[in-house]
Amino acid sequence: MVDTHEGGCLCGTVRYRVVGQSTRAVVCHCRFCQRRTGSAFAISVYFAEQDVAITQGILNTYEYRSDESKRWLRMEFCPTCGTSVTWTVEFLPGERAIAGGTLDDPNWLKLKRHVWTRSAQHWMVFPPEVELLETTLSQYK
Ligand SMILES: [Zn+2]
Ligand SMILES: [Zn+2]
Repeated sequence: MVDTHEGGCLCGTVRYRVVGQSTRAVVCHCRFCQRRTGSAFAISVYFAEQDVAITQGILNTYEYRSDESKRWLRMEFCPTCGTSVTWTVEFLPGERAIAGGTLDDPNWLKLKRHVWTRSAQHWMVFPPEVELLETTLSQYK
């Protein structure tokens, strides 16, 4: 049976379903993710675009351009409660990320890579045996 996981925003207006395996799953400590989440880091779980279905609700989009790479990131959020649910980025065509914290059950995620550790909060303690990258994989910069 194909793996299926569901999730949604805080207020329950937006719901989604993902099928199959994620193409990449990272914990991101960049300043953009810190600011957009208001937190220490973001959990970005990417899937092939066709494996992500918005099953309920309509999302609003905010396009941001990276100060460093100048490429776009399109954040999609619930217009009612503001939760960032999903996004696409110029450097990963054909993929769509979901915000790891919006999964109904986030415990199946295997997060083996932390990126942009150079801007991690000073109290951050990284788990053993994860890959740590000061910025990101060079091919995505
Ligand atoms: Zn909502
Ligand atoms: Zn980030």
